[in-house]
Amino acid sequence: MECVGRRTSWLEAFSSCSVGGTRGVSPESQVLVTKAMTGNQTCNLLRTLLRASWIGGLSGALGLAALTAVAEPAAFSGERALAHLNAICELGARPSGSAAMEQQRQILIPHFQQAGGKVFRQAFRSRDSRTGDWVRMENLIVHWHPERTDRVLLGVHYDTRPYPDRDRRDPRGVFVGANDGASGVAVLMELAHAMPSLAGSVGVDFVLFDAEEYVFDDARDAYCLGSLFFARQYAAGRRAGTLAHHYRCGVILDMVADRDLTIWQEQQSVAWPETRPVVEAIWATAKRLGVKQFVPRPKYEINDDHVPLRMTGGIPTCDIIDFDYPHWHTTRDRPAACSAESLDAVGRVMLAWLQTLQ
Ligand SMILES: [Zn+2]
Repeated sequence: MECVGRRTSWLEAFSSCSVGGTRGVSPESQVLVTKAMTGNQTCNLLRTLLRASWIGGLSGALGLAALTAVAEPAAFSGERALAHLNAICELGARPSGSAAMEQQRQILIPHFQQAGGKVFRQAFRSRDSRTGDWVRMENLIVHWHPERTDRVLLGVHYDTRPYPDRDRRDPRGVFVGANDGASGVAVLMELAHAMPSLAGSVGVDFVLFDAEEYVFDDARDAYCLGSLFFARQYAAGRRAGTLAHHYRCGVILDMVADRDLTIWQEQQSVAWPETRPVVEAIWATAKRLGVKQFVPRPKYEINDDHVPLRMTGGIPTCDIIDFDYPHWHTTRDRPAACSAESLDAVGRVMLAWLQTLQ
């Protein structure tokens, strides 16, 4: 993403956007893997059995346990999310079109399928602005409860900026994007375990956007290519009446693992009338859970993937981002700058907020 002020308007940025011809949406990948009970759910079940047998005897306990196992989603683990972040960063730099980006997909796709998600690969292409060559790109879309037509989008970007160009010493060094890239991915990987048991009538789509920052030159290259492509496809489908589902709202998670996490509200997200209630509900959830990292006041205006989703796709989408990150776009954006505690805070708020939706 970029902070507004260093560039002109997002409209101007997108008018020069080089998202090119569609290669088509590849067929749904593989089969839906039956969800296995996670370790957490097993623990919950055992805890419930013990508690209930203490109170009402074993026969009553069995009935209660069965109910609880269905109703209680898996808890979010910041430690496991951090392990995911580390695994993704071990792939090295993951810019759009790179071998490491494809390796990342080969980790993510089976991960989400094994958790019970239905994965689609949405292919598109854009040009390498240095050479003019076409580069193949892909958004990953993970459906949970696809039969629910009223849906919420949780988006992250999973590409990394080609170079750490704000690094004074090594602006052409290796950029692994632990916070700016892997952190959102890690939260979704961990949230996946709680999605099959999400109650209510609202379905969830995780969307992992490619080419959020396939940017070699800030003055020339456009941001948010994957989310713009996704938004155009969605808007076209809505106009044509070919989509059965509808996004009620969306949330982008970006840079959410900083050890020193402070998440201010993003200015556009509170200024747009239809996204403001989403922001308020999420920050109210954080307050209810006692998660102090969410500060209920706006600070930065940031052009992130929420902008094309809202402006082009018509999906009211807010941005959850900690922009006070000293290692932004430097070689120091590494796992050591991230913490399980921060991932835990964001993951728990997101899960609890999803559970409030009716
Ligand atoms: Zn970035």
